[in-house]
Amino acid sequence: MSEERIADDVLIRVLPDTLANKIAAGEVVQRPASVEKELVENSIDAGADEIRVSVKSAGSELIEVIDNGCGMGPEDAARCFRRHATSKIETAEDLESIFTLGFRGEALASISAVSQVTLKTRRHHDEAGVLVRVDGGILKASRPCAANRGTSVSVRNLFYNVPARRRFLKSKATEFKHLFETFQRLALANPSIAFTLSKDGEEIHRLPASPRADFEEGLRMRINDLFGEKHAANLIRITQRTSYLSAAGFVGRVELRTRPRGEQYLFVNGRHVKSRALHHAVVAAYGSLLPPKSLPFYTLFLQLDPRHTDVNVHPTKATIKFDDEPGVYGFVKSVVRKALGVVDLIPQLDRGIIGEREPAMRRLYGVPRVPREESPGELREKVDAPPAESKETMEVKVKSEGEPLLWQLHNRFVLTQLRTGLMILDQRAAHKRILYELALESMESGVGTSQQLLFPHTVELSPADFELIAELLPDLKTIGFSIEPLSGYTFVVRGIPAELRSGVEKDILQELLNEYRSSEKTLRIRGREGLARSMARRGAIRAGEPLSPMEMRTLIDRLFMCKMPYVSPDNRPTLVRISIEELEKRFTARR
Ligand code: ADP
Ligand code: MG
Repeated sequence: MSEERIADDVLIRVLPDTLANKIAAGEVVQRPASVEKELVENSIDAGADEIRVSVKSAGSELIEVIDNGCGMGPEDAARCFRRHATSKIETAEDLESIFTLGFRGEALASISAVSQVTLKTRRHHDEAGVLVRVDGGILKASRPCAANRGTSVSVRNLFYNVPARRRFLKSKATEFKHLFETFQRLALANPSIAFTLSKDGEEIHRLPASPRADFEEGLRMRINDLFGEKHAANLIRITQRTSYLSAAGFVGRVELRTRPRGEQYLFVNGRHVKSRALHHAVVAAYGSLLPPKSLPFYTLFLQLDPRHTDVNVHPTKATIKFDDEPGVYGFVKSVVRKALGVVDLIPQLDRGIIGEREPAMRRLYGVPRVPREESPGELREKVDAPPAESKETMEVKVKSEGEPLLWQLHNRFVLTQLRTGLMILDQRAAHKRILYELALESMESGVGTSQQLLFPHTVELSPADFELIAELLPDLKTIGFSIEPLSGYTFVVRGIPAELRSGVEKDILQELLNEYRSSEKTLRIRGREGLARSMARRGAIRAGEPLSPMEMRTLIDRLFMCKMPYVSPDNRPTLVRISIEELEKRFTARR
């Protein structure tokens, strides 16, 4: 080796910690708002339910965060300023499943490298607290002191020792805007934590905590406190749960549209994140509901196993990656779509619109859905039993829940009040649409639920019909028919689709055959649709059948869960809306 090369070698040295931290600070601490975010996240991780944030001179003079969380013991209070000092992960495996907001153990080291930090902390079981002062990464003091339970961190004179960075801070107004937006995001994500924000000594926001149990109500209140009443009054609730992913939160009605961007909030596992793809998914779900170039308000909370995400891609953890991005995209879009479809038309029904209502289903669909596995005898008994709830109790329930007003007119139409007027539903047309989509869905997914008949019955057919049915068998099976050839041209029907009222299966088969025969060619191509249409026609409640309030409610709910709620499968309208203006017009004086 040449001498020069050896000389090169000795030029390399390990930087002292203080300098290394100063460099690392560039990644974590971009501006006062980054300090605020890291400190508040630490308070949240510490289990605080009250967090007070104060800033002076838009954070360049002071950023202070006080919490009532778990606090730290004297050793940890000094140690937390060291790089990679964290209590949140221990092993590499822990990185796979992060439930805390922090985990890199970098924030306090980085912040204290470029500012003057005073930390005061006390655990609830300690008598005295401890005070630690660090200036530009150098420990200046560490001593016992009187302190409230929890932790307070004051960060003064940010970038005082990195003049270039300090010069590059934007105007006070801009920096404060960042501070405020960061505060908003943290507060939105944590409705069960009380927050205050003070600016230059004056408290400008006080957000009370709401009970942890009711996240959605808490979020609604928080939106009210942060954005005002108009926002709180125009929210559409999102709830959807799958084994992989769940969604909660709100999307705004079209009235809350903004332009340009600003009021769009996505949280994944409690962490505010940005994702172009998911933003696109929400906006796409609104489709043409929104005028061009405007954006919807949303506060969307996704929850999934952290192993399927990667938040470690960015030092401030602001962007997120998903294992299955197309899957998450599709989920978000369909969840928002569903919410919008339901509510935009029937604004006053948005609470708990999607849910199980077995007693009502029982009558609307003849029988409740039951799994195939149950023994036929057992099943039939349960089915035939009178509905557990009498009509009266259902009505009482409906009223006591403060449900929307519903009337049945001439046992044919269901009337309900809309915020903007009146909606009239044709009960049979609506039910047809529901059954039609259910049948198609079952055929597509191939998992129609079947109810086994206690007394299987036989159907005898002509040789020609026998051939036809044989052709249809696979599709019939997917929607829940269980039919087998017996002997000659006879079939035995052992089970029928769970959505179907028992007793109509023969009609359906017969009708199907008739249609099939009369227009063999077209129907053969559109066999499934024909089948679904017959199911709907035969299975739907008729005009003249009285419905309980709960049944009416179920009918409306299920209709708006359909892909195309507005027309029946035979192309007739399922509902008519009359606006208040229209009614007013009809009542104006004639001249
Ligand atoms: P990280 O949050 O990634 O662990 P930080 O540098 O932000 O790293 O904090 C280092 C450690 O200091 C934390 O892991 C935690 O143990 C402790 N800590 C920081 N802030 C608080 C606080 N407000 N209350 C209690 N402990 C805290
Ligand atoms: Mg942290």
